[in-house]
Amino acid sequence: MIEKDVLVIGGGAAGLFCAIEAGKRGRKVVLLEHADRIGKKIAVSGGGRCNFTNLHTSADNFISANPHFCKSALARYTPSDFISLIEKHGIAYHEKKLGQLFCDGSSREVIQMLLTEAREAGVEIRCGSLVQNVSRSAPSSLDGVSALTFTVETDQGTFRSESLVVATGGLSIAPLGATDFGYQLARQFGLAIVEPWPALVPFTLSREALRQLGPLSGISLDAQVSCDGRQFRENILITHRGLSGPAILQISSYWRPGLSITINLLPEQDALQVLTEHENKEIALANFLSQFLPRRFVLAWCALNFPSQPLKRYTSRELTEIALKLNHWEVVPTGTEGYRKAEVTAGGISTAELSSQTMAVKKVAGLYFIGEVVDVTGQLGGFNFQWAWASGYAAGQSV
Ligand SMILES: Cc1cc2nc3c(=O)[nH]c(=O)nc-3n(C[C@H](O)[C@H](O)[C@H](O)COP(=O)(O)OP(=O)(O)OC[C@H]3O[C@@H](n4cnc5c(N)ncnc54)[C@H](O)[C@@H]3O)c2cc1C
Repeated sequence: MIEKDVLVIGGGAAGLFCAIEAGKRGRKVVLLEHADRIGKKIAVSGGGRCNFTNLHTSADNFISANPHFCKSALARYTPSDFISLIEKHGIAYHEKKLGQLFCDGSSREVIQMLLTEAREAGVEIRCGSLVQNVSRSAPSSLDGVSALTFTVETDQGTFRSESLVVATGGLSIAPLGATDFGYQLARQFGLAIVEPWPALVPFTLSREALRQLGPLSGISLDAQVSCDGRQFRENILITHRGLSGPAILQISSYWRPGLSITINLLPEQDALQVLTEHENKEIALANFLSQFLPRRFVLAWCALNFPSQPLKRYTSRELTEIALKLNHWEVVPTGTEGYRKAEVTAGGISTAELSSQTMAVKKVAGLYFIGEVVDVTGQLGGFNFQWAWASGYAAGQSV
């Protein structure tokens, strides 16, 4: 029997950060990770350069049944706090765009930083630990001090602790260690869960749409994509399976089966206005649109929708249709590429069950949920790591 103050299950961004913070407070912490090493998602994140935070982080960048829940933790541990830590470890970084901070070198530097901090804080990390059972007994203080309420049986022995932190992440990308452990444990303790769904994920399209879009595959262009009252202006990428690219990944988090998305291919122009201004011109539609869009795209798009001819030959009704398709191209995805490709899992442990100050489960003393397993999901751009650090920090001060 191994007795500790705090047991953290899951060695990703949130679990490591919580363990470090608790260790710094003098708590005896053990972190159990079932994979052969910690931080596998950190390693692959940001294309290997880890987009570790975003300078413009605010509650608006998160999806949750309670949009206010994340505010307290985000205010107590801010992007500047994490940047100070990065700088303390001499890690070079840069802003790529839109407040997104990346390592100049490699994500491995962030992992190394967390391992160093964990070692200095006295955290014991046990990789390859398979948790077999978790139980809780009512705290007893027969000896006046002990309140070891959680018993966690693993293939490496049985642990007892006062606090148990669940930081096992979501369902995205099983080969990187994802399991449904967090949701199962929540159910075991009778906690509500917001049904998870894959987010920041490419869309799939119907066979017919794919056949039509085939010639456009591989083309990336700046567009505004909207769905369900949300809109994002960034690149979209047409793929052989459907649609991807940052604007599509962003909107996917807000999409639900059956909904359509609207793509504005000319976000800077009122297409009807510019077409009408040139309606008497000899210039062919494809040449005209090539001023605004990649030529390869325009040629394929015209062939698909409106065979190119001089603008003056289109009727005003046809020009209206062309304009509508440019500014309001409506697409109904058949689905998404699912957890296999989703960068995150939205939904999760209902925030109604947790204290927004500490991430503690309100009705189970000593139990905490942090990071992606909680129903707080960031948009693309470093927000998910900021949530992992901030929620880990909040719990780390309380366990
Ligand atoms: C390809 C990719 C790129 C990404 N890039 C970025 C980015 O650049 N910026 C950004 O902000 N976000 C990015 N994300 C999202 C970000 O990685 C996650 O939101 C973040 O890692 C969540 O941290 P977490 O600690 O909650 O969960 P995770 O990082 O998923 O960690 C959970 C840990 O728990 C372990 N675990 C699971 N089940 C068990 C169990 N039963 N027992 C023991 N251990 C268990 C897992 O092995 C894992 O180590 C990316 C995600 C992916 C997939």
